[in-house]
Amino acid sequence: MAVKRKPDLAAIKMLVMDVDGVFTDGTIAISDEGTQSRRFNYLDGHGIRLWHRAGFSSAIISGKDSRATAIRAGQLEIQHVAMGCTKKLPAFESLLAEAGLGTEQVACIGDDLLDLPLLRRAGFGVAVANAVDELKEAADYVTKLAGGSGAVREVIEHILKATGKWDQLMERYLV
Ligand SMILES: [Mg+2]
Repeated sequence: MAVKRKPDLAAIKMLVMDVDGVFTDGTIAISDEGTQSRRFNYLDGHGIRLWHRAGFSSAIISGKDSRATAIRAGQLEIQHVAMGCTKKLPAFESLLAEAGLGTEQVACIGDDLLDLPLLRRAGFGVAVANAVDELKEAADYVTKLAGGSGAVREVIEHILKATGKWDQLMERYLV
C-alpha cells in the first residue's frame, strides 16, 4: 500500500462539508405533523465566517435534500451547495472543476461511508469524532468534538492556526 503523503495545510483553499452528522449531531427530529428539523451549532457558524474572512471558500455536499440546510448555507454565505447527492464523487468533481481547484487544495469533513471517496482524495481528509470507523481510518485528522458540537469550528481553527492565519483574525476581537 502506498504511503499517504503528509497533508499540506497551507495549500488548502476550500472546505467541503457533509451536513448530517457534521454540522448536526446526525439526528433528525420528526414531529407528529411530519415536519423535520435539524440543529446547527453557532460556533460552527462563526467558524465559517472566520474561514471566509481569511479568504477561503466553502461548500456543502449532502446526500439529503433539505430546506433547513439550504437556509443555513444561505445564512453562512457558503458559496457552493449540492444536495440530494446519492453519490458524492460526481458532485465533488464538478465542484472542483467549477472552482478551478485540485484535490490537494481542499479539506473534506465527513462522518459516514458516503463521504469516504471524498476523504480519500482530499488534500486534508477529516472524520468527525462521531464518524464510522472506516472514515476515521482513512482520515488525516479525527476531530475531538462531535458533529453538531463544534467539529467544523475545530477543523477551521486547526487549519488557520497551523498556517499562521489565526492571530491576524483575532486582532479585531482583542480590542
Ligand atoms: Mg453525514
